[in-house]
Amino acid sequence: MPPTDLLLASQNPGKLAEMRVLVGGLPFRILGPHDVGIDDAPEETGTTFEENAALKARHYAGRSGLMAVADDSGISVDALDGAPGLYSSRFGGEGADDSDRNRLLLAKLKDVPRNARGAHFTSAVAVARGGDVVFEATETVDGLIADAPRGPNGFGYDPLFFYPPFGKTFGEVSHFEKDKVSHRGKAFARLRRFLETLP
Ligand code: IMP
Repeated sequence: MPPTDLLLASQNPGKLAEMRVLVGGLPFRILGPHDVGIDDAPEETGTTFEENAALKARHYAGRSGLMAVADDSGISVDALDGAPGLYSSRFGGEGADDSDRNRLLLAKLKDVPRNARGAHFTSAVAVARGGDVVFEATETVDGLIADAPRGPNGFGYDPLFFYPPFGKTFGEVSHFEKDKVSHRGKAFARLRRFLETLP
């Protein structure tokens, strides 16, 4: 029997690469949006990570006819009352890239001392199949915003996310190390257990 197709529903290349690794080894044929000719993303109109993940999973499953896995994620900074949170990918406005967003975040925290630089990544994962959301999981990881970007690895805010147990930012560790403790790594570990139960 040919393997079931599993569509990873993200247009963010850094996130998509990470998701591919996190579902590696499962008996599915893994596809990205471009493999099935979907170049647009739905508008993220939800008011929670969970709502946005479900909305994205349903959108891509509906468009492709495949089982689709979506992740909605972001970084919440204590000193900014949880911002950028749900708006992490839109922080800095249209046209801003990851380094612009990191610069902006550092500027906003310019006078904030180390002990008040707490931050949390959240990942909400949803799987949709034939119009139904059949799996959901949310996980977080706690860290601190560094005073400068460090490390070439990862994507997005990784170079600024200092993880005390490692004594390093997520930008300074391998994806293998990040995946063991990260918001997405933990949510996908639960996803894997769900996918393994499917007939
Ligand atoms: P969205 O879930 O595609 O709306 O965007 C999530 C945004 O949050 C990304 O574009 C990144 O800026 C940020 N983000 C989420 N997870 C991570 C991560 O693991 N590392 C770094 N940045 C992340």
